[in-house]
Amino acid sequence: MSSIGMAQSETARASKFSAFFDQRTRVSVFSAVSLFLLVCGVLALIAGLGFASERLLKIAAINIIAGVGLGLFCGSTGILSLGHVVFFGIGAYVSAWFTIPSTIKPILLPQLPAPLLNVEWPLVAAIVPATCAAAIVGVLTGFVMQRLRETSAVIASFGFLVIAYLLFIGLKPLTNGKQSLYALPTEQVTWPLVLGLLALALMIAFAVKSSRIGRAAESFRENEPAARSIGIRSERPIFGVWVVSAAIMGAAGALFAHSVGVVSPSSFYLDKTFALIVLVIVGGYRSLTGAVVGAIFVSFAEEIFKKTEEFLNGYSGTELAFGFIMPNVFGLTALSFSLLILLVLYYRPEGVAGYKEIAAHQWFQRLFPNVFAEKTAHSNKPNYHVDETAVLTTTNLQKSYGAFCAMDKINLEVKAGQIVGLIGPNGAGKSTFINVITGNLFATGGSIQLNGNDVTLASASELAKIGLGRTFQNIRTFGAMSALENVIAAVNVSRPDMSRVEAEQLALNWLAFLGLENKYQEQADGLAYGDQRRLEIARALALEPQFLILDEPAAGMNDQETKDLTDLLQQIVQRIGCGILLVEHDLPMVMALCDQIYVVNKGEQIASGTPQEVQADPHVIEAYIGEEMDD
Ligand code: ADP
Ligand code: MG
Repeated sequence: MSSIGMAQSETARASKFSAFFDQRTRVSVFSAVSLFLLVCGVLALIAGLGFASERLLKIAAINIIAGVGLGLFCGSTGILSLGHVVFFGIGAYVSAWFTIPSTIKPILLPQLPAPLLNVEWPLVAAIVPATCAAAIVGVLTGFVMQRLRETSAVIASFGFLVIAYLLFIGLKPLTNGKQSLYALPTEQVTWPLVLGLLALALMIAFAVKSSRIGRAAESFRENEPAARSIGIRSERPIFGVWVVSAAIMGAAGALFAHSVGVVSPSSFYLDKTFALIVLVIVGGYRSLTGAVVGAIFVSFAEEIFKKTEEFLNGYSGTELAFGFIMPNVFGLTALSFSLLILLVLYYRPEGVAGYKEIAAHQWFQRLFPNVFAEKTAHSNKPNYHVDETAVLTTTNLQKSYGAFCAMDKINLEVKAGQIVGLIGPNGAGKSTFINVITGNLFATGGSIQLNGNDVTLASASELAKIGLGRTFQNIRTFGAMSALENVIAAVNVSRPDMSRVEAEQLALNWLAFLGLENKYQEQADGLAYGDQRRLEIARALALEPQFLILDEPAAGMNDQETKDLTDLLQQIVQRIGCGILLVEHDLPMVMALCDQIYVVNKGEQIASGTPQEVQADPHVIEAYIGEEMDD
C-alpha cells in the first residue's frame, strides 16, 4: 500500500506540547480556560453596561454551572435528561439544612434530626454535603439510567423528576413541604465562590469528557454495536458521567438556593427543567461549549423577555388605535423560548455552538500553532503478534427467527495465520453467522469455541476483549468523532495501562498502517466509503485481536482500493499472524486471498475446501459461483 512508504521519522513537526499532551487534553484544557474567560468577559461587560443587577449576574453564572453539569451528561451520552433539576433541588435543600440560622431552623424544620438542628455552617462548607448528597442520589438512580437508551432514558429521567418533586413536597420534616425554606444567608454567595465553582465545574467536566469513561460514553453514543465490538460496555460510562454531572448540579443548586434566599419545590420542577432544555438545545448539546454558550444566552434572554413583558403590561388596558385595547401580556418568556427551540432545531439542529468544543476548531488552533502542532506516525508496523495455536471453531451453529432458519449447522474453522473465506448469495446467512460468532446475536443451537474454550454465550464486548475484532457490512464508525478518536477508543480497551500520549501515537500508527494517516483529524462520517471501511479495520486491529472478522470490506471500494486491500490483508496475516474470516462478494479477491473457503446458501453450508476445490464443486456452481463467474 502506498502509505507503507509514507511513514515519517521521529523527527516530526511535533512540538513540545504535542509530545507531552495528547490532542484531546490540549483541546480540553484550552476549551475550559477559554470558556471560563468568555463567561467572565460577558459578565463583566454586562455589569459594566449596567444591564443587570449583581444578583442576576450571579444567578446567570450559577445557571452556567448547571449548564455544564447537564451538558456533560447530555453531550457525552446523547441522552437528553429531563431529570437533572432534581439534583439541583437536592443541592439546594441539603445546603439549606446546614446554613439556615440555628435560631430559625427549629421553627421551619422542627423535625430535622437533632445534630442538623444545631449546626450553622458557612455556605462554602455546606456545598460539600450538598454535592455529596446529589452524587449519592446520582449513584442510586444511575443504576437505572445506565440500562436505558434514547427515548426510554428520556422518559425515565422525566419520571425521576416527577417522583422527586412529589418527595420534595411530601417529605415535610426535611423540606417544609409546599412552604418555602427561607432565611438562607444570601450574602455568602460571593464572586470568588461562584467563579471558583464555575472554574472547578469546567475543569471536572472537561477532565471527565476526555477521560477513558467520557470517551467510552461518546463511542457508545455514536454507535452502540460498534462500541460493543471493541469491548466497551454501556453501563459504566453512562453511570460514571451521570454521577459526576449530578454532583455538579448539586453544587449549582446549593449556590442557586443561596442566591435567591429561599427554597421551594416549585423552583425545581417544570419551569427550571424547560429552561435547562432550552439552554442545551440552543447552545448545542453535544459539547460543553454549547452548554456554556446556551447558558449565557438563556440567562440574559430570560431577563430581556421578562422586562419586555413588564414593559408591554405597562400599557395593558390602554387603547392603542382603532378601538384596539392592549391586552394583558403573559407567558412571553416561555413562548419566546419555545419558538427559539423550534427555530434552532430547524435551522441548526446541532445548536448554535455546534458539536465541537471551542478549542477543537481550526480557527482556534491557528491561534496557537505551537500547541496544536500536527502529529505524525512514528512507525506503521503493527506491534503485536498472535500465538500460532489460536483457533476459532463453530460446531453445528444455528440461528433461527421463529420458524425461519437464517443459518443452520455451520461448521467452520479459522486458524491463526489463515485467511478463510465465507461466501454465498445474498441472504445466505453470512452476516448472521458473523453476528452470532461476534456476540451481536445469540445462537439458537450449536456452539462456538475460541482456543478450545466455549464462548457460545459470551457477549460482544467480552468477545472483543478476548480476541475477536470485526467490521460491519453496513459501515459503523463513530461518525461524529475524528478518525483518530475512533481508533483511540479501541486502543483504550486493548492497552488500558497506556498513557494518553502513547495511546494516541499507537492509534495514529494504526491509521498509518491503513493509509489514513493524513486524515486522522477528519470526522469519520465525512470520509469516503473506502476510507470508512479502512477506518473500521484500523479500529478492529487496534483491539489487537487474534481473529479479524470482515463483513464485505471491499463493498464500495474501487478497483485500486480493492487491490490495495487485498495486499493489506496479506500483510496483516504475515506480520501479525492473526486469522482472518472474510465475507466478500468480490470473488476474484476471495479466490486470490483465501486458504480455505466455506460456501453457504439459504442458511446451509453446501461446500468447503481450497479455492480450487470449491470452484470445481458442482453444488457451488449450481447455487452460486457459476452465474457470477460467467459475467
Ligand atoms: P447475507 O449476509 O448472507 O446476505 P444475512 O445473514 O444478512 O445474509 O441474512 C440471512 C437471512 O436471514 C435473510 O433471509 C434475512 O432476511 C434473514 N434475517 C436477517 N435478520 C433477520 C431478523 N432479525 N429476523 C428475521 N430474519 C432475518
Ligand atoms: Mg451480509
